Amino acid sequence: MALIVKKFGGSSVATPEKMLNVAKRVLEEKKPDDKIVMVVSAMGDTTDELIELAKGVTKEPYKYAREMDMLLTTGEQVSIALLAMTFKELGEKAVSLTGIMAGMKTDSAYTKGRILDITPARVQEELNKGNIVVVAGFQGSDKYGNPVTLGRGGSDTSAVALAGALGADTCEIYTDVEGVFSADPRVAKGARKMNEITYSEMLEMARLGAGVMQPRSVEMGQVYKIPIHVRSTFSKNTGTIIREDYTMEEKSFSIRGVAHDEDVTKVAILGIADTPGVAHKIFDALAKANVDVDMIVQSMRNIEKNITDMVFTVANTDLVKAKEVVEKVAGELNASKVLIEENVTKISIVGAGMLGSPGIAARMFGALAKTGVNIEIISTSEISISCLIKGGSVKEAVNAIHDEFFPREG
Ligand code: ADP
Ligand code: ASP
Ligand code: MG
Repeated sequence: MALIVKKFGGSSVATPEKMLNVAKRVLEEKKPDDKIVMVVSAMGDTTDELIELAKGVTKEPYKYAREMDMLLTTGEQVSIALLAMTFKELGEKAVSLTGIMAGMKTDSAYTKGRILDITPARVQEELNKGNIVVVAGFQGSDKYGNPVTLGRGGSDTSAVALAGALGADTCEIYTDVEGVFSADPRVAKGARKMNEITYSEMLEMARLGAGVMQPRSVEMGQVYKIPIHVRSTFSKNTGTIIREDYTMEEKSFSIRGVAHDEDVTKVAILGIADTPGVAHKIFDALAKANVDVDMIVQSMRNIEKNITDMVFTVANTDLVKAKEVVEKVAGELNASKVLIEENVTKISIVGAGMLGSPGIAARMFGALAKTGVNIEIISTSEISISCLIKGGSVKEAVNAIHDEFFPREG
């Protein structure tokens, strides 16, 4: 007997036919004693469509974050009901549960909630009754009973967290690609599928934009020590296992992968006093508004006049909140100007092996230079180097960097 959590993304359950295929595959592969929990996303592009719908009543839907969550959670609710009905039509016992019913408790950070605790008693109960349990991904509820979503791509996190809380034997993430690749396979022509990747390298790839897994889901996997199998809904091939350490020999390259993120806005507060407490004032206000800040650069603009500029990036989805906060703080700090640029992209290389190899950064910058792309900000971590770029073709830039580190054969 095995307890298996299987998560199916939006493209895997985009139509009733696809749901039927998913249900048939699950039943085909299920051993008689297996207990199956399915976590599903909203059908196809439903979440995007719901966001567009909200834009019909307000230019800035994320200003009303609680209502956005009330709206967005409906997408997953449609999927679970239809998938449970599909199983029943096939003669199987199945039941749908919302995130709240599955015991997913979150904080109140609407649209980017964090799971605080999971008490999956109802899931256990339904499994014991012989049901396939179909749980809505991406959602939970806060202590007041409000629905809260877990940020875009959050069904991955629901699945891994539920697998951890249930003590599942395996967690499988079914998606529209064959696994985790060395770069987004829809962008990099030479992208290679990995057999394995460690939690820490996957977390860094995900954090830097590799949308195949939500970063928090990888963190959850690491916390619960659950290996995560990322694989295709549309083929039976083995995908990529995300786990603590490598177990197989793979062809070694100097880096593990390239990630890119187009969901980035650059914010610059110009002409502020270069005195203690200024950075704290800006970033404390942003933190209090729950805005995640990424690359931060403080320049040395005018030493004589003791004036500096503060430049940083935020996710596009946080822009409305960030703008409100920054304009207020900039006024209080007597800043000369606030500049906001939305069309920027962060491209990164990731690999635990790059530590202490300065040549790697030079190769990345060289590849970007060849495509004529200008680098606006550079930041590094122990296992990654990121460049913020503006203009030029993102696709060309990603391919240039990927080809530099993963030469195409033939
Ligand atoms: P799902 O709806 O199944 O959750 P997502 O669209 O969230 O699917 O994630 C799968 C997509 O992630 C792929 O279609 C691919 O374009 C993108 N992606 C980005 N980086 C990578 C990568 N390194 N490896 C695999 N896929 C990636
Ligand atoms: N439906 C949500 C989204 O599109 C959650 C998910 O698919 O993981 O972001
Ligand atoms: Mg996803």
